[in-house]
Amino acid sequence: MTRDEIRELAAFQADETKGACALSFYFQPDPPQDRSHRREAIVAKDIVKQALKSAAAAGKNGSLHADLDRVLDLATNLRGSARGKAVFACSAQNFWKEYELPPHLGATQIYLQSQFQLKPLAALLGAQPALCVAVVDRQRARFFDLRLDDLRERGAIVHLLSRSGSSYGYNGYEGGHAERRVADEALRHFKAVSDRLLADYEKGIWERLIVGCQDANWPEFDSNLHPYVKHRLIGRFSADVASVSNEEIRDHAGVVLNQWITERASTKASEALDLAKSNGRGVSGLRRVLQALEAGEVQSMFLGENYSAQAVQCPNCGHLDAHLTPSCVACGKPTRELSDVCDAIIPIAIRRDIELFYLKDHTDLDRAGNIAALLRFRSDQRTGQIAAAS
Ligand SMILES: [Zn+2]
Repeated sequence: MTRDEIRELAAFQADETKGACALSFYFQPDPPQDRSHRREAIVAKDIVKQALKSAAAAGKNGSLHADLDRVLDLATNLRGSARGKAVFACSAQNFWKEYELPPHLGATQIYLQSQFQLKPLAALLGAQPALCVAVVDRQRARFFDLRLDDLRERGAIVHLLSRSGSSYGYNGYEGGHAERRVADEALRHFKAVSDRLLADYEKGIWERLIVGCQDANWPEFDSNLHPYVKHRLIGRFSADVASVSNEEIRDHAGVVLNQWITERASTKASEALDLAKSNGRGVSGLRRVLQALEAGEVQSMFLGENYSAQAVQCPNCGHLDAHLTPSCVACGKPTRELSDVCDAIIPIAIRRDIELFYLKDHTDLDRAGNIAALLRFRSDQRTGQIAAAS
């Protein structure tokens, strides 16, 4: 799933005057230990059947019914699936997209709205970096790109070592000599891997790195990493290049990445809240966040996990307001009420490449109204210079 595809979803608008409806379906698989029960696939089918009933009751029998039937077919085949899944459909406008996703979608749900529901996707994306996973031992290295759930091998380096010292018989001198040669070869290999990582980083192929290697090899490899590369390293997992499967690589890297995103979200949210207090590059509370969003100041946004709030939006100029005013303060036209302001915020964040973080149990964010943002700059404090980050 690429950024462009996500932007396309965020920009989609169902033509309600023609009875069109944007259907979003998310499938959250059972945890591995429960997978044999196949509970989630049954839940998924029930949810779709319920939506079919409601649609029929509301007299929506045309294209929406066809979309729901197709989703029901798909849900029927999800038994035992280990991967998450998302479907975005609007056959009235010839739209059908399905994606495999990491199994961290919260819950299986279906949404029938005028725009696609992107919250589970946004929560998952957080600020997903372009990730390189390098799986390394003393003679081999494999390089992968990981984008959401999509793991692709980009290349490999192999420097087969000379036969190890022990196989040179029991002559102490010969053996020691051969061992030193093997150690030199391994060192050269690690340096070549490090050079390759640096070159790819400088070409912009990846932004963050995860390394998979055996614990015994880590100190030597780590000590040969270029400082720039080391600075972009977000974690490591234990793996044997010769035997690890692509699925294992994806799952191990996914765990490391999620942990990193969670920690980073918490640190950056605290930073935003501190800066909000000191009137710096941070704001908190819905009213201030919406203002900053409209001023194009927001770099990263932080939301409590279940954050939801009412707001109004102006269909004419797009102005969002936390005050539920009947007419737009910007242009005077009638506003419409949003039961959840997130439905408007998330597509804006996606369109503008604003990092979106959902946080669980962040006490300070909770106190600040469960919404905050880190700013690129503050327009009311600009001194004629455009901030570098903008
Ligand atoms: Zn307006």
